[in-house]
Amino acid sequence: MGIRHPLVHEIAKDTYLINEFGLCNHYILVGSERALVIDCGMGYYDMVALIASITDKPYDVVITHGHPDHAGMMHQFDQVYINEKDLPMLPWAAKPDNFPIDEFIWNNRLHVGDWWVWEVTEDMANRGNKDTKTLPLNEGDVFDLGNRKVTAYSLPGHSEGCMYFIDDMTRIAFTGDCCNYNLSTRTVPVSTVLRGLIRIYSDYGVKYDRIFTGHSTYCGSLDVKAMDIEVLRNLIEAYRSLLRGDAVFGMRRMQLFPDKPPHKVVYYGPEVQYPHENDRGPMVCAGFNEDLLWEEGEEHIIP
Ligand SMILES: [Zn+2]
Repeated sequence: MGIRHPLVHEIAKDTYLINEFGLCNHYILVGSERALVIDCGMGYYDMVALIASITDKPYDVVITHGHPDHAGMMHQFDQVYINEKDLPMLPWAAKPDNFPIDEFIWNNRLHVGDWWVWEVTEDMANRGNKDTKTLPLNEGDVFDLGNRKVTAYSLPGHSEGCMYFIDDMTRIAFTGDCCNYNLSTRTVPVSTVLRGLIRIYSDYGVKYDRIFTGHSTYCGSLDVKAMDIEVLRNLIEAYRSLLRGDAVFGMRRMQLFPDKPPHKVVYYGPEVQYPHENDRGPMVCAGFNEDLLWEEGEEHIIP
């Protein structure tokens, strides 16, 4: 028997991390007037009821990017904010039969290694069926919760419309998948990603002190940890080495598509224990598109 409900962790005052069966994290920030929900997971529980158990404040839902483990329960809500560039990705998340439980479990096994903590069954699927309205989400948008303000920032790379959020009360950056250790950035030029990573890193210690990503707890390890800021530094250096031409490459299989051939990534940083795999490896593995290192017409000056 495994755990059959998402785990709620209070990571700061009035700030909750929801661990949805080891696959992904989403967050609930409660202010004096309103609340803010950041991401809406995969689709295996009643998220609206869980939010209601935490706060009775009115709230907005923002989505960091259009992947199904971040937008999966959007149809439980009347409206969500998402960057318009990620709208084309949403139907994948929205089609209920396009992400069956087998795939979820298979996906989780690949993501998290040991499968002994959770017990998720098909009858738990709950993606919602509302005709959800999408509202635009852009750089600089501020969600005023009363005693705290949460600002949206853009960091294209993992997807073209990837957004992250900085909360001025807890000084936490909620980054979704925009700067994870296994970042992959196929449709955005490397130089653009690099500028975004440098920008968020330059705000470390200024606007935020901790980063919480979309995947910081896993199946075999339920520890709630902020991301090691070294990951961000090493990602920056990985992409710089790529533009310089002295990158160290490795071949990595994508967990979500194990049938696809492994793809070329840049390895960078000291060897570490991966949080959700049984092996050790370089601190970051950055995927990229070899034909998309620079923006069109851009002078080749490494940021
Ligand atoms: Zn993603």
